Amino acid sequence: MGIISENARKILSEIPGHVRVVAAAKARTADEIREVIEAGVTLIGENYVQEARAVIPEIGERARWHFIGHVQTNKVKYIVPLFDMIETLDSMPLAQTVDRLAGRLGRVMPVLVEVNSAQEPQKAGVLPEDVLPFIRQIHTLEHIRIQGLMTMGPFLDDPEGLRPYFRATRELFDEVAKAAVPGVEMKHLSMGMSDSYRIAIEEGATLVRIGTMIFGPRNYS
Ligand SMILES: *Cc1c(COP(=O)(O)O)cnc(C)c1O
Repeated sequence: MGIISENARKILSEIPGHVRVVAAAKARTADEIREVIEAGVTLIGENYVQEARAVIPEIGERARWHFIGHVQTNKVKYIVPLFDMIETLDSMPLAQTVDRLAGRLGRVMPVLVEVNSAQEPQKAGVLPEDVLPFIRQIHTLEHIRIQGLMTMGPFLDDPEGLRPYFRATRELFDEVAKAAVPGVEMKHLSMGMSDSYRIAIEEGATLVRIGTMIFGPRNYS
C-alpha cells in the first residue's frame, strides 16, 4: 500500500461518518488519483479545467467530480459536462450560464454557493449578507440545484483563526435552510483543508477538501 492510500485511509478512519472527503487533486496525476479512490475516497475535487479534461475521462465514473476552483466564464462549457457538482457558484451570470448549458445536456447541475466569509475585497464568493438574496434570485433556474454552501476563509498562519469564519458560514447555512426557499436543499457545507479540516468539522462541515495531507506537498497552489 502506498503512502497516498495510507494517508487517505487514516483520514477516512478518523472523521465522523456524516463527513465526506473531497480529495483536492490539483497538480496530481491520474495514478495518484486512482490510489485515493482505491483507499475509499469517492469525491475528487479539481481546480483547473485543463487538468480535469485530461484526468476525468481517464478515471471517469469510479469517482464523483467536484469543481472547486474559480469558474472562468469561458471555461463553463467544459466544466458542465465533466463535473458532478460545482462548489464555487458565486454570480448571477455564472448561474445563468451553468443553467443554460446543463439544460442543453438535459441535466441538472448540483451547485454550492461560495461564500466570501471574511469579506475580503479581492476574493471570490458571495458576501455573507448577499447569500440569501442571491439564492432567492437563482432558485427558479431549472437546471441547477442549490445544495449548500462552500467557503475557503482567509489565508492565516494559525488555522484556529478560521474558526469564526467557519462558524459564521454554518450559521448562514442554517439561516438559508430555515428560509426554505423552494427547490433549495441545504445538505452540504464544504469547508476546511489540510490544516483546518478538523476545526471545520467541529463547526459543522459535511465536506472537507483535502490535498496536501493526502497527496503530500505540491509545487504550486
Ligand atoms: C488546493 C485546495 C484545497 C486543498 O488544500 P490543501 O491545503 O492542499 O489541503 C482545498 N480547497 C480548494 C478550493 C483548493 O484549491
